[in-house]
Amino acid sequence: MGTFELIAKHGEHEEVVFCHDPDVGLKAIIAIHNTALGPALGGTRMWNYRTEEEALVDVLRLSKGMTYKAAAAGLNLGGGKAVIIGDSKTQKTEGLFRAFGQFVNSLNGKYITAEDVGTCVTDMEYIFMETPFVTGIPKDFGGSGDPSPYTAHGVLMGIKASAKWKLGTDNLKGMRIAVQGLGNVGTHLVSYLVGEGAQVVVSDIDQAKCKQHHDKYGVTVVAPDKILFEDCEILAPCALGAIVNDETLRKFKTKVIAGGANNLLAESRHGDHLKELGILYAPDYVINAGGLMNVFVELEGYSHERAFEKTRKVYDNCTKVFEIAQTDNLGTHIAADRLAEERLKTIGKLKQRHQGKSSRNFTTLKEVTNR
Ligand code: NAD
Repeated sequence: MGTFELIAKHGEHEEVVFCHDPDVGLKAIIAIHNTALGPALGGTRMWNYRTEEEALVDVLRLSKGMTYKAAAAGLNLGGGKAVIIGDSKTQKTEGLFRAFGQFVNSLNGKYITAEDVGTCVTDMEYIFMETPFVTGIPKDFGGSGDPSPYTAHGVLMGIKASAKWKLGTDNLKGMRIAVQGLGNVGTHLVSYLVGEGAQVVVSDIDQAKCKQHHDKYGVTVVAPDKILFEDCEILAPCALGAIVNDETLRKFKTKVIAGGANNLLAESRHGDHLKELGILYAPDYVINAGGLMNVFVELEGYSHERAFEKTRKVYDNCTKVFEIAQTDNLGTHIAADRLAEERLKTIGKLKQRHQGKSSRNFTTLKEVTNR
């Protein structure tokens, strides 16, 4: 399939930019899916793609996902993403990221980048030397730092909203909640849940992390192959994607699935199966939007308090999704898409498109978000 056909097949992207600088070995693609609500924000992934086509398909898919995530989160942001083709362990250089930063800058704030798989704060610092249109820079530079506590706080809010909807109360005291994965998000989530008085069960393939959590919080530890099938009120997956699949579906003993991990459904039809089984699913991109909300606050001039406050909105966003699902008799995964598409249509119409709106050069993030 030709490049243009491939782009058309994966959604109506506004702009796809191929970035090439042989001097520093840069091959990257920036995909801007939709800027109806605001500038396109999404991280830069560095990955050793086997082919350029694979990289293109990934960036097209991920940038579209960001449009939906920002729209459902109620943020005035569009969806974009970038990929750098290369091995993040061996091919990173200052020159590579600065050259990439120049490409980002050439888009004049229409695309704002951030960290993603394979990139880190140091890489963002190099990009920041060439462009202001980058977030996730260190706190010393006015950035927001690690997003995980905010993601986890949003997940807590989503868990509360789900509990209210399915179990009639958002008081988590005594509720049995199983957390899969004790990484950046899981660790913070466990501390919040313990603070709420929940009865927490955890698992990680890293036994040291399990012991640490058991010693610190007194939580129960179970084996990695048992955690998904715990008899519990709420299952909070915070490790891998695709944990809802043909194999796991019939074995769940939970009433709610609400966690931080991305792409929880192996396929969309598995969301329909959850509905049939009466398991309430808090859609991944709605419940894990706290990190994106945190970055959004960075665009306005960062404040920890405001970022934390903003993540409370995840409660309302999840409830809205559940209401749409109930009213229209849909799986919550489809209802989430509806919520996002509705906002893109109505609010997007009110805001002028960023594309080609002005010939003026923007020099700061604030100017771009306020335009
Ligand atoms: P992480 O790599 O820090 O943590 C993942 C943890 O899961 C690790 O401790 C790992 O050992 C554990 N794990 C892996 N396989 C497991 C298994 N089979 N059973 C139990 N534990 C297992 O990642 P993270 O940053 O905490 O992110 C977790 C998930 O949340 C990912 O899907 C990520 O895409 C998503 N997410 C993260 C953020 C964020 O702010 N970090 C934001 C949005 C979404």
